[in-house]
Amino acid sequence: MEAFTYRSGALHVEDVPLSRIAQEVGTPAFVYSTGAMEAAYRAYADAFAGMDVLVCYAMKANSNLAVIRTFAALGAGVDVVSGGELAQARAAGLTGDRIIFAGVGKTREEMAQGLEAGILEFNVESEPELRALNEVASAMGRRAPVAVRINPDVDAATHEKISTGRKKDKFGIPWERAREIYSLAGELPGIDAEGIAVHIGSQLTSLAPYRAAFTRMGELARVLLADGVTLRRLDLGGGLGIDYAGEDVPSAADYARVARETLGDLGLPMVTEPGRSLVGNAGVLLARVVFVKDEGRRFVICDAAMNDLIRPTLYDAWHDVVPLLEPAPGAVMGEADFVGPVCETGDYLALERQAPPFAPDDVIAFRSAGAYARVMASNYNSRPHAPEVLVRGDHFAVVRPRQRLEAMWADEVMPPWLAGGDTA
Ligand SMILES: *Cc1c(COP(=O)(O)O)cnc(C)c1O
Repeated sequence: MEAFTYRSGALHVEDVPLSRIAQEVGTPAFVYSTGAMEAAYRAYADAFAGMDVLVCYAMKANSNLAVIRTFAALGAGVDVVSGGELAQARAAGLTGDRIIFAGVGKTREEMAQGLEAGILEFNVESEPELRALNEVASAMGRRAPVAVRINPDVDAATHEKISTGRKKDKFGIPWERAREIYSLAGELPGIDAEGIAVHIGSQLTSLAPYRAAFTRMGELARVLLADGVTLRRLDLGGGLGIDYAGEDVPSAADYARVARETLGDLGLPMVTEPGRSLVGNAGVLLARVVFVKDEGRRFVICDAAMNDLIRPTLYDAWHDVVPLLEPAPGAVMGEADFVGPVCETGDYLALERQAPPFAPDDVIAFRSAGAYARVMASNYNSRPHAPEVLVRGDHFAVVRPRQRLEAMWADEVMPPWLAGGDTA
């Protein structure tokens, strides 16, 4: 579903002109389309129709409560990676039986929180973690449901910083050691080892690494079943890429077909953990042009910056630049850099783009800003967090208002020796 379209020359999100949101909510602002999120979820649900598969939204991509609830209402579970996300998922209304807890560094406190919440599965990534979880669960008189995250040693062929399934990456247990770990797990009274998990990276644009990883998982599953391990679940991880710059990406249906072909005959329930592919292209970041500086190189200086959207400078990410007013057919295009006001050369949103003329006060949408955008934002340069807006059909709601300036330092405390207020 294409949620962002020009109608009579005005960029709309579903049935709402983005200019109306910019006017009423101000800029910068994140805007999300419910229809686009629902369509992305349904693509997974339809792709796995007939199989017992729980889609667990990886909420680190966008943890706004309204976003989480949008997916939960469709039947999704969530994948969390911290005690904070666990608490936030619960605040959004998720029950433990639909929560999966991943991550290489769960503290004992976080383990206890997960057990308390009765979560579906801990994805365990190392032997020390397995032993610690056993101790925590035993002390609570519980057994922790565990899937061992194996590192299948496949190259996801994605950006260096988001590849997670190679031997040199910090994630998972080497697949060659997996059998040994399940055998250990079988002896630990606080552990129910009942699943296998993989997650090989993010923004994958090819199915081949999935096929390699799932094949390896299938081989292991057969070995474990022969060993007498009671497997209840296979967790496929997430990572399906999205189209940022016109690239060809596999569909959820293609991805599900690979899972079916490699693992379907095992007849086991499955979990999938998509994040980016459920929300990435459902969002935009709206920014207003402050100045245009053209001294040989055209800089379009915006009111949004790297603190709002760090992906371009962190991952060399591409976000399409779309004017709210459709350029006239004969508009003269020229190269431009879209930058923010932050005092860093790395503060840019888009470089060397062919773009129509822009003038101060024009509003621009930076596309694909639904995932790993607002969640990675900071208050750098004491810039308050941009608001988040959720659209559904012809109406919209501010689901998190713009941060008040005072809120940025409201939690700070003066030490006694500075508390007098005398600054002379
Ligand atoms: C980040 C993450 C995901 C989601 O990845 P996407 O690329 O956003 O789909 C899924 N599972 C785990 C364990 C993760 O860390």
